[in-house]
Amino acid sequence: MIRYVDQLEVSGQCVFVRVDFNVSLDDEQRIVDDLRIRQALPTIRYLQEQGARVILASHLGRPKGKINPKYSLLPVAQHLTDLLNQEVIFPESCVGDAVIKLTRDLREGELILLENLRFHPEEEANDSGFAEQLASYAEVYVNDAFGTLHRAHASTSRMADSFEEKGAGFLVRDELRALNALIESPKRPFWGILGGAKVSDKIGVIERLLDKVDGLLLGGALAYTFLKAQGHEIGKSRLEEEKIHVARKALEKATSRDIPLLLPIDHRVAKSMDAGVEARVIDSADIPADWIGLDIGPQTVKRFQEALAKAQMIFWNGPLGYFEVTPFAEGTKKIAQAVADSQAISVVGGGDSLAALKSLGMEDKVSYLSTGGGASLEYLEGKELPGLRALEEGI
Ligand code: AMP
Repeated sequence: MIRYVDQLEVSGQCVFVRVDFNVSLDDEQRIVDDLRIRQALPTIRYLQEQGARVILASHLGRPKGKINPKYSLLPVAQHLTDLLNQEVIFPESCVGDAVIKLTRDLREGELILLENLRFHPEEEANDSGFAEQLASYAEVYVNDAFGTLHRAHASTSRMADSFEEKGAGFLVRDELRALNALIESPKRPFWGILGGAKVSDKIGVIERLLDKVDGLLLGGALAYTFLKAQGHEIGKSRLEEEKIHVARKALEKATSRDIPLLLPIDHRVAKSMDAGVEARVIDSADIPADWIGLDIGPQTVKRFQEALAKAQMIFWNGPLGYFEVTPFAEGTKKIAQAVADSQAISVVGGGDSLAALKSLGMEDKVSYLSTGGGASLEYLEGKELPGLRALEEGI
């Protein structure tokens, strides 16, 4: 069983909250999208109202165990100060004597945000000594880092062992509720949309969703391995040769269950992936040699829109094309629009799908924006998330 933050004794206690402030920053270290920060506010505010002393900790980017100012959480500390209208104490490191002193001196209602946990290789190594240091700051442990629950790292996994009083935050609760609704009580018809780069990342969820959905739409680079498995020509489109057999198996499963699994029937293609390259539409599922399929074509968009118009529930993860380059963003944007226009309960995850919705100003038109693409896929797949397991009591 897992407790949530409102079931813990937090009043007057020092509470360590693992948050997921892994936001993208632009070249001038400005936050591109603060969704993950805003979604963590309910837990932070609740703890403050209860008179807790709050220590926040997160990673940002992939500094690979080395201190790198490019991945400092300083812009996040500044943004949090603005959002909460309160000073956020920001020590230079997440470990060391200075932090120990700051955490000891922390008063009720005060907030510390520790510097990037991944500046230390021990974080990703799930190191027990590092975990113990982090745990020594607090009496209560809360994990509200939904996007990192699928990682067994020191701050998400090992350190929880040091606490009797531990639980999940409100963001984790809301994410799990949204995902549980999809798998436990789907409104029908329920359609899944999966795009993105790799079959290997999505095959687990495709197979699991085939047990749950009324139809599945596949686009993005991963669709080409499926088209290849059906015997189509895919030119120079991205192919995972070693995944053709799993794609074929998934196609067979869909057929045997009579679940429509719709693949692109036309494409937007180019001769290279360079910006400014000439794009063309190929009005066929087959792509001639030398061409790369980089987006779903207009007929596919139409077909996908028709399916989504009738949906009562939608789960979407992953772009339907190489959407960073303008001509190939069309399909993803049209599908984002269709999801936003739909009356269905919609759950959208993955940074690229969210970016597409945001570029249309449609992010508040979906029922639930997940802050964790990979974590939501692994949860839907039925995998055990180490960050959740660490919060289980009586094990
Ligand atoms: P993922 O992180 O797995 O959701 O994959 C997202 C990436 O897949 C983005 O960088 C997209 O540009 C890329 N992508 C999607 N469709 C294609 C495609 N047809 N060809 C090449 N890259 C693609």
